Amino acid sequence: MEEIKIQRATTLKPKPDFKTLGFGKVFSDHMFLMNYTAGQGWHDPRIVPYGPFTLEPSAMVFHYAQEVFEGLKAYRTADGRIQLFRPIDNARRLNDSCERLCIPAIDENLFVEAVKTLVAVDREWVPDQPGTSLYIRPFIIATDASLGVHASHTYLFCIITGPVGAYYAEGINPVRIYVEDDDVRAVKGGTGYTKCGGNYAASIRAGERAEKQGYAQVLWLDGVHRKYIEEVGSMNVMFKVGGKIITPQLTGSVLPGITRRSCLELLRDWGYAVEERLITAQELFDAADSGKLEEAWGTGTAAVISPIGEMGWEGRHVVVNGGEIGSLTHKLYDTLVGIQWGTEPDPYGWTIRL
Ligand SMILES: *Cc1c(COP(=O)(O)O)cnc(C)c1O
Repeated sequence: MEEIKIQRATTLKPKPDFKTLGFGKVFSDHMFLMNYTAGQGWHDPRIVPYGPFTLEPSAMVFHYAQEVFEGLKAYRTADGRIQLFRPIDNARRLNDSCERLCIPAIDENLFVEAVKTLVAVDREWVPDQPGTSLYIRPFIIATDASLGVHASHTYLFCIITGPVGAYYAEGINPVRIYVEDDDVRAVKGGTGYTKCGGNYAASIRAGERAEKQGYAQVLWLDGVHRKYIEEVGSMNVMFKVGGKIITPQLTGSVLPGITRRSCLELLRDWGYAVEERLITAQELFDAADSGKLEEAWGTGTAAVISPIGEMGWEGRHVVVNGGEIGSLTHKLYDTLVGIQWGTEPDPYGWTIRL
């Protein structure tokens, strides 16, 4: 593994008030960079001061979106230490995304080492207020100056970080979601299982539509049959129906979330019957009408667990658990948050201390 060179910033930026942090607007003092050149492979892993980089207007990423990214967090524990949650899973998923987008794979151990080293350099940026964390955004872009449609021969791998506020500053509140009938996020054979910018570009319109109608998130249907539930916004989704847990199976158009995987492991350990399978919107709304739908929630790194309180679909409207957060939803949230921030034991070995 090539050594990571560190060039420290000579002037450090003032830190924001950690009590009033938002999401994704403030960035730390440093970033990680590494280049790929065909014939040479990935080279020059380095940490440098955070700042703009120069690209040709013809750089491939601007035109054909050959780009992948990841999202994870560093958490400050009560004793002032810093820990990461399952970072090797992010490395593996990044490489799965790379494979689909014809981007050369990176060394997974180097990925984790780069994240750890960068967070250590900017350790003062890991906030200490309840629920706050340092958001870590690794991404790879195609940099060839060329408009020909083919895989780039050069790439830039970059990691930026920034402190983010507590997702539930006003307490954890169930959200309203609506089933999108027209736009689809992903299709079988497409890039749904990858974290690539293109998926997000295609999802923005439905998100705007949902917001206009007073909904917080979109419940996505599959792109082929337009009847199977896939995800909610940019989260995976789970339901408690008649005591059982059901969640959409990973068909190729569903993103394999690390929070999803962690929840399923916890739920199975707690003795719940968990089914990963196809779930139609019809089944879900019928279960709600007959009183069998007990709880519904989304899972993802940003919110951890996002309870769903109401759902709309083709003029139908259902309320889940009286619009209140369910007890299992709450237990999952408390357990994951406890492990991530180190207030609960981590019997799974999911956390890595810096
Ligand atoms: C990142 C992401 C998720 C959640 O994945 P986590 O690893 O749990 O953060 C779910 N759906 C989509 C579309 C995503 O991009």
